[in-house]
Amino acid sequence: MKVFYDLHMHSCLSPCGDMDMTPNNIVGMSTLLGLNLIALTDHNTCQNCPAVEELGRANGICVLSGMELTTSEEIHVVCLFPSSEKALNFESFVADHRMKIKNKPEIYGEQAILNSQDEKTGEIEELLILATDISIMDIKEICDRYGGIAFPAHINRDSYSVLSVLGEIPAECGFTAAEISQSGNEEKLKDSHPILKKMHIIRDSDSHYLENMRDAGPYFELDILTGENVINYLKNPKK
Ligand SMILES: [Zn+2]
Ligand SMILES: [Zn+2]
Repeated sequence: MKVFYDLHMHSCLSPCGDMDMTPNNIVGMSTLLGLNLIALTDHNTCQNCPAVEELGRANGICVLSGMELTTSEEIHVVCLFPSSEKALNFESFVADHRMKIKNKPEIYGEQAILNSQDEKTGEIEELLILATDISIMDIKEICDRYGGIAFPAHINRDSYSVLSVLGEIPAECGFTAAEISQSGNEEKLKDSHPILKKMHIIRDSDSHYLENMRDAGPYFELDILTGENVINYLKNPKK
């Protein structure tokens, strides 16, 4: 089956995510857009994933749970797990590696945790957009340990991307997938970085606002759509 996906989007828990990016609005908009598979990837946290997972289940959308981790090199990496339970286990590891600097909501924006009724149940006090002390060299192995996958985010962008910081995707990172943002030129990137030819290329919206969410376009072919199957598919290098 064709699986129309968007594996990178932010909720109101990301300080830069719009307050309209609630679990219900994200799942509702995904349904309208014809997506079968979505992932919630707030900065350095997974705490809105349980609500989105529950709503996805009720609406026939497969939901992966994860985060957009900022590595110690200030590179964004998307980390995805087949369930919110596994993602939250991973977050308990990440929480010890975040900087303990408090958010200033009036400057950076609110960081709201919501339940599946879009009711606020809490907020995260630490500012989530800062770098962790986890290196890009280690992140794949750490995600493996928690049953997930990691891939570098928006590699074609001029900031917070592996190419803008390191100039290459080191083979030692062990990535089997990479994300190119919507404006990126896949063929040009593959010519300059042949390592990408063996990777799954993922095109995500990185939505922070409902109006940035994207119509169904890019897809994978999978026999059966489950979170585990998606993770396994992305973990195996492209043939
Ligand atoms: Zn990013
Ligand atoms: Zn993002």
